[in-house]
Amino acid sequence: SETFEKEVVIIGTGYGGSVAALRLTEKNIPVTLLEMGLNWEKSGKKFSPMINPGHSAAWLKTKTIAPFMNLFRLDKFTGALDRLDFEHIKIWLGRGVGGGSLVNGGMAVTPKKEYFKEIFPNLDTEKFYSHYFPLANKELKTNVASEDFLKDCDFYKFNRVGEEEAKKAGFKTVRVPNVYDFRYMEKEYRNEVPRSALAGEVIYGNNHGKNSLDKTYLKKAAATGNLEILELHQVNHITQNPDKSYALDISVINTNGQEIQHKIINARKLILSAGTMGSLELLLKSNSVTQLPVDQHIGKEWGNNGNFMTGRNWVKAFSGGTGSKQSTIPVGGIDHWEDKKHPFFVEIAPLPMGMNVATSLYLLVNKLKKFGEVTYDLTDQKLQLNWDESHTSHMKDNAKYFLRTMNNANGGTRAHLLFKNGFGADICYHPLGGIVLGKATDQFGRLNGHQNLYVIDGSLIPGTIGVNPFVTITAIAEYCMEHLIKEDFS
Ligand code: FAD
Repeated sequence: SETFEKEVVIIGTGYGGSVAALRLTEKNIPVTLLEMGLNWEKSGKKFSPMINPGHSAAWLKTKTIAPFMNLFRLDKFTGALDRLDFEHIKIWLGRGVGGGSLVNGGMAVTPKKEYFKEIFPNLDTEKFYSHYFPLANKELKTNVASEDFLKDCDFYKFNRVGEEEAKKAGFKTVRVPNVYDFRYMEKEYRNEVPRSALAGEVIYGNNHGKNSLDKTYLKKAAATGNLEILELHQVNHITQNPDKSYALDISVINTNGQEIQHKIINARKLILSAGTMGSLELLLKSNSVTQLPVDQHIGKEWGNNGNFMTGRNWVKAFSGGTGSKQSTIPVGGIDHWEDKKHPFFVEIAPLPMGMNVATSLYLLVNKLKKFGEVTYDLTDQKLQLNWDESHTSHMKDNAKYFLRTMNNANGGTRAHLLFKNGFGADICYHPLGGIVLGKATDQFGRLNGHQNLYVIDGSLIPGTIGVNPFVTITAIAEYCMEHLIKEDFS
């Protein structure tokens, strides 16, 4: 294997890695970004729609891995969506240049100020709400759909039904911002541009419309001329060198996942932005394999952000249902967060199956009552997650209460057709924590016990933030990088 020397290396191109890359490169600091997935934009390959899964549908699997209806066989390919299966929970992740932004629903939600303060008592809440959150939303290109469009568009019938029924049941509904360009969507609707959200594209990637990170932070970083992106570079483990730099053991893979080259990259400074599960795996595995020192806090305070899926069948079954045409981009939420007994936030999710299934799908975001813990099993060479039904039982109570209230007011039944017993307790899109800010790291993401090692991604958030997390991950990354650049990188 060949050895290369680099000043600053970032592992992972999701929200944390992209913010770090832009803030460093714009200060004229050369950055190497390592990403195990494909550079989809550069490759010229197309993302596939949900009803016709192709190359982008799954990371090196022979069958699709969507949350339901996995009837499709696949050729093994370095696709954009991955799933980690643990005994009681399945975690979905994005792979490729742009990380989770390639496959997510684009919901760009700023958390409630009070809850943010509760989760991060040591951060300057005022500064976050006056500066870092607005900055994150501006760079991410967050926008809101026009009410006029939502009122008439047949692709948003599922949302109108969802909001109407929620109101009838006494719940408060809210409009949810997104990074999908709604002006583009209006043009899609008028058939002026190629369709994406209105053509069933999202979880296997959007070919148009969505402002994923490759169109925002990473594009700006690349324009500085100081950014090098190495795709299909999978970091296996990290060794601390005697001079306090880091040696990365890397497999360069082809699109079938086979190693075609083995590399060592020495990095003077290393930023881990491999996502909650990726950064945890790198640290815990390296600790086992190369004795990389890790702090006792690593792996603690992990959570699923209270994710709990559920749904209702027989929704308006005799009056048109939820619609056969559905946009893949959610726009509505139910805010029940202030309730003392059943606090939760609900995403009114689409179910774009190409036919009217008279079914409403909901992703509940609940509080956490109990943290999970992540460890590494050297024999199996895999992450282990201490997480079971005791962590999700209060979320199930909330889901039961929510469905009961909705069904009493509107009719309908629990969605037995979608999940076992109608509850998807094991579906997680928002893994958070394990390398918590101010515990496993200092207050700016410097890893305890290290001089040149940083963590900037979702793992800094202790398991819960009350809403979809990427705006918060971006804002925290902005905050950390502002300080780190001044103190460590100039
Ligand atoms: P990630 O975005 O996960 O990026 C990490 C990157 O590191 C990946 O590209 C990965 O391939 C790479 N990597 C990992 N390990 C290695 C390694 N060893 N070597 C090289 N590269 C590596 N959030 C919202 O706010 N709104 C939503 O609407 C929303 N919808 C979602 C829908 C789905 C289906 C999914 C899966 C997630 C959704 N999320 C949503 C969650 C959101 O996408 C994540 O919280 C976010 O992407 C996490 O950002 P991150 O920077 O921590 O890491």
